[in-house]
Amino acid sequence: ACGSGASTSTAANAQPAASQKTQASAAASGQKVGVAMPTKSSERWIRDGNNMKDQLEKLGYTVDLQYAEDDVQAQVSQIENMITGGAKCLVIASIDSSALVNVLAEAKKNNIPVIAYDRLLMDTDAVSYYATFDNKGVGTLIGKYIEEKMGLKDGKGPFNIELFAGSPDDNNAHFLNTGAMEVLQPYIDSGKLKVLSGQTEFDKICTLRWSQETAQKRMEDILSGYYSTGKNVDIVLSPFDGISYGIAAALEGAGYKVGTKWPIITGQDAETMAVKNIKSGKQTMTVFKDTRILAAKCVTMVQAVMEGKQPEINDTKSYNNGKLVVPSYLCTPVAITKDNIQKELIDSNYYKESDIS
Ligand code: BGC
Repeated sequence: ACGSGASTSTAANAQPAASQKTQASAAASGQKVGVAMPTKSSERWIRDGNNMKDQLEKLGYTVDLQYAEDDVQAQVSQIENMITGGAKCLVIASIDSSALVNVLAEAKKNNIPVIAYDRLLMDTDAVSYYATFDNKGVGTLIGKYIEEKMGLKDGKGPFNIELFAGSPDDNNAHFLNTGAMEVLQPYIDSGKLKVLSGQTEFDKICTLRWSQETAQKRMEDILSGYYSTGKNVDIVLSPFDGISYGIAAALEGAGYKVGTKWPIITGQDAETMAVKNIKSGKQTMTVFKDTRILAAKCVTMVQAVMEGKQPEINDTKSYNNGKLVVPSYLCTPVAITKDNIQKELIDSNYYKESDIS
């Protein structure tokens, strides 16, 4: 597809050999890659975008990086502009993963390959590859953390738990929930975990756009509706640090205090605020997804499609988008608690000490 453009007239523009970037730049030589990200309201996407831009530019590509602030129509327009603006490859982290079907068909018509970034693009045959983390694995880490921390395997309990899930239009939210509930459902069934709100189905616990405010409101309603008579919530399963902040705010509003009967609260993304909260006890764990690694994997996919080659993939069965099983590379998520902040986040140079203190 766009590899055909890459293979023709690039030699004339190639820079004199100087560094390791030379090899790739012969193929890249300023060709435009459109990178569509969902929002700047959460730290991770800013890092994802910056990492993609830096790594692609190092290889000699020109990058059109756009954020759509969780506005689905704005993202469609941005992608349309990338297509008309001459992008030779598109990398997309969608807002609503089924809302891009038409614009992706347009990309396909123009022979522009599309790579799904972190979030699967649904209901389209216009996607070539998918770079992501093991999304079910994220849920497994969260579920196992709760299991271990509460001693559920040793028969401890019963404990009160409330459940939150991510955005229903994000395939990742479903995978995460499946992974977490696979671990926790047996304890709910046996009565060791009690959900006093009774809200366990995905459509009851999901949070449109992963919104902190929506989560806070739901947690407030749960606390006032089901925990007003001296009952205590012991665990809150949160699938995203932003949601965890909303949950914590609702708990504080209801008189809970860190250190006394404060529940364990999970999360995802290892945002700096979440790491600070883990240090202070306000949050208990998060899941670190190293955006440097994800970007690096995605960049290898861009290079491959631009050069008409096959990128490395490690999963050919998990991600059926309704039209095809998208060949994927799954990076490995890491559970973070107080105990490994230093090793995973500081020693790896993901954060500086000053970012999280
Ligand atoms: C990502 C998570 C992120 C969430 C909210 C998901 O698609 O996989 O890392 O926490 O979106 O932005």
